[in-house]
Amino acid sequence: MSDLTQLYQEIILSHNRNPKNYRILESFTGMGKGNNPLCGDEVELYWKLEDGVISDLAFQARGCAISRASASIMTELLRGKTIAESQFLLSELLEFFADPDPGVEMKGHLGDLKALSGVKAYPSRIKCATLAWHALLENAE
Ligand code: ZN
Repeated sequence: MSDLTQLYQEIILSHNRNPKNYRILESFTGMGKGNNPLCGDEVELYWKLEDGVISDLAFQARGCAISRASASIMTELLRGKTIAESQFLLSELLEFFADPDPGVEMKGHLGDLKALSGVKAYPSRIKCATLAWHALLENAE
Protein backbone atom coordinates (compact mmCIF):
# COMPACT_ATOMS: atom_id res chain seq x y z
CA MET A 1 0.00 0.00 0.00
CA SER A 2 2.68 2.49 0.93
CA ASP A 3 5.30 1.92 -1.71
CA LEU A 4 6.12 4.32 -4.48
CA THR A 5 4.94 2.07 -7.26
CA GLN A 6 1.47 2.32 -5.79
CA LEU A 7 1.80 6.08 -5.41
CA TYR A 8 2.68 6.60 -9.04
CA GLN A 9 0.36 4.16 -10.60
CA GLU A 10 -0.42 4.05 -14.26
CA ILE A 11 -3.44 6.38 -14.15
CA ILE A 12 -1.33 9.12 -12.61
CA LEU A 13 1.44 8.65 -15.15
CA SER A 14 -0.96 8.68 -18.03
CA HIS A 15 -2.71 11.88 -16.87
CA ASN A 16 0.73 13.42 -16.37
CA ARG A 17 1.87 12.46 -19.87
CA ASN A 18 -1.37 13.32 -21.63
CA PRO A 19 -3.23 15.72 -19.37
CA LYS A 20 -6.89 16.38 -20.15
CA ASN A 21 -7.98 19.94 -20.78
CA TYR A 22 -4.40 21.15 -20.88
CA ARG A 23 -4.98 24.48 -22.59
CA ILE A 24 -5.97 28.08 -21.99
CA LEU A 25 -9.66 28.88 -22.43
CA GLU A 26 -10.41 31.54 -25.03
CA SER A 27 -13.20 32.88 -22.87
CA PHE A 28 -13.45 32.26 -19.17
CA THR A 29 -15.21 33.72 -16.15
CA GLY A 30 -12.54 32.96 -13.61
CA MET A 31 -8.93 32.00 -13.18
CA GLY A 32 -6.78 31.02 -10.26
CA LYS A 33 -3.17 30.19 -9.58
CA GLY A 34 -1.68 27.80 -7.11
CA ASN A 35 1.84 27.16 -6.11
CA ASN A 36 3.43 24.66 -3.82
CA PRO A 37 6.97 25.82 -3.08
CA LEU A 38 7.77 22.67 -1.10
CA CYS A 39 7.55 20.59 -4.27
CA GLY A 40 7.93 23.26 -6.96
CA ASP A 41 4.43 22.75 -8.38
CA GLU A 42 2.70 25.59 -10.18
CA VAL A 43 -0.78 25.49 -11.65
CA GLU A 44 -2.93 27.97 -13.54
CA LEU A 45 -6.58 27.19 -13.83
CA TYR A 46 -9.24 28.71 -16.08
CA TRP A 47 -12.93 28.09 -15.83
CA LYS A 48 -16.24 29.18 -17.25
CA LEU A 49 -19.32 29.31 -15.09
CA GLU A 50 -22.67 29.35 -16.86
CA ASP A 51 -25.90 29.48 -14.85
CA GLY A 52 -23.92 28.48 -11.77
CA VAL A 53 -22.46 25.39 -13.41
CA ILE A 54 -18.86 24.86 -14.52
CA SER A 55 -19.23 24.47 -18.28
CA ASP A 56 -15.54 24.43 -19.07
CA LEU A 57 -12.35 24.03 -17.10
CA ALA A 58 -8.75 23.93 -18.28
CA PHE A 59 -5.29 24.23 -16.83
CA GLN A 60 -1.60 24.72 -17.36
CA ALA A 61 0.88 23.31 -14.89
CA ARG A 62 4.49 22.63 -14.09
CA GLY A 63 5.50 20.30 -11.36
CA CYS A 64 5.28 16.75 -10.15
CA ALA A 65 3.18 14.00 -11.69
CA ILE A 66 0.77 14.03 -8.75
CA SER A 67 -0.04 17.73 -9.04
CA ARG A 68 -0.49 17.53 -12.81
CA ALA A 69 -2.51 14.32 -12.71
CA SER A 70 -4.74 15.67 -9.96
CA ALA A 71 -5.43 18.83 -11.99
CA SER A 72 -6.17 16.77 -15.10
CA ILE A 73 -8.56 14.45 -13.24
CA MET A 74 -10.23 17.42 -11.58
CA THR A 75 -10.96 19.17 -14.89
CA GLU A 76 -12.77 16.02 -16.04
CA LEU A 77 -14.63 15.47 -12.78
CA LEU A 78 -15.93 19.01 -12.23
CA ARG A 79 -17.40 19.76 -15.64
CA GLY A 80 -21.14 20.18 -15.16
CA LYS A 81 -20.82 20.65 -11.40
CA THR A 82 -21.51 23.73 -9.30
CA ILE A 83 -18.85 25.37 -7.13
CA ALA A 84 -20.66 24.06 -4.03
CA GLU A 85 -20.57 20.52 -5.42
CA SER A 86 -16.88 20.95 -6.23
CA GLN A 87 -16.22 22.14 -2.69
CA PHE A 88 -18.01 19.08 -1.36
CA LEU A 89 -15.90 16.72 -3.50
CA LEU A 90 -12.72 18.38 -2.23
CA SER A 91 -13.92 17.96 1.34
CA GLU A 92 -14.51 14.26 0.67
CA LEU A 93 -11.02 13.95 -0.81
CA LEU A 94 -9.46 15.68 2.21
CA GLU A 95 -11.53 13.54 4.54
CA PHE A 96 -10.17 10.44 2.84
CA PHE A 97 -6.56 11.66 3.18
CA ALA A 98 -7.13 12.50 6.86
CA ASP A 99 -8.72 9.18 7.77
CA PRO A 100 -6.19 7.25 9.85
CA ASP A 101 -7.68 3.91 8.80
CA PRO A 102 -5.49 2.60 5.93
CA GLY A 103 -8.22 0.14 4.90
CA VAL A 104 -10.78 2.80 3.97
CA GLU A 105 -11.40 3.19 0.23
CA MET A 106 -12.07 6.39 -1.61
CA LYS A 107 -15.72 6.91 -2.59
CA GLY A 108 -16.53 5.68 -6.07
CA HIS A 109 -17.94 8.97 -7.36
CA LEU A 110 -14.49 10.52 -6.92
CA GLY A 111 -13.62 8.66 -10.12
CA ASP A 112 -9.99 8.64 -11.24
CA LEU A 113 -9.01 10.49 -8.07
CA LYS A 114 -8.89 7.02 -6.65
CA ALA A 115 -5.52 6.73 -8.36
CA LEU A 116 -4.29 9.27 -5.82
CA SER A 117 -5.20 7.01 -2.88
CA GLY A 118 -1.52 6.23 -2.28
CA VAL A 119 -0.86 9.89 -1.47
CA LYS A 120 -2.49 9.27 1.90
CA ALA A 121 0.72 7.54 3.04
CA TYR A 122 2.72 10.66 2.11
CA PRO A 123 1.13 13.62 3.94
CA SER A 124 3.62 16.07 2.42
CA ARG A 125 2.21 15.26 -1.02
CA ILE A 126 -1.40 16.06 -0.13
CA LYS A 127 -0.71 19.66 -1.13
CA CYS A 128 0.39 18.40 -4.57
CA ALA A 129 -2.84 16.41 -4.88
CA THR A 130 -5.10 19.33 -3.93
CA LEU A 131 -3.24 22.30 -5.45
CA ALA A 132 -5.52 22.72 -8.47
CA TRP A 133 -8.61 22.29 -6.29
CA HIS A 134 -7.55 25.15 -4.06
CA ALA A 135 -6.67 27.29 -7.09
CA LEU A 136 -10.30 26.91 -8.17
CA LEU A 137 -12.14 27.06 -4.88
CA GLU A 138 -10.19 29.93 -3.34
CA ASN A 139 -10.84 32.07 -6.41
CA ALA A 140 -14.37 31.13 -7.51
CA GLU A 141 -17.29 33.33 -6.36
ZN1 ZN B 1 4.20 18.06 -6.09
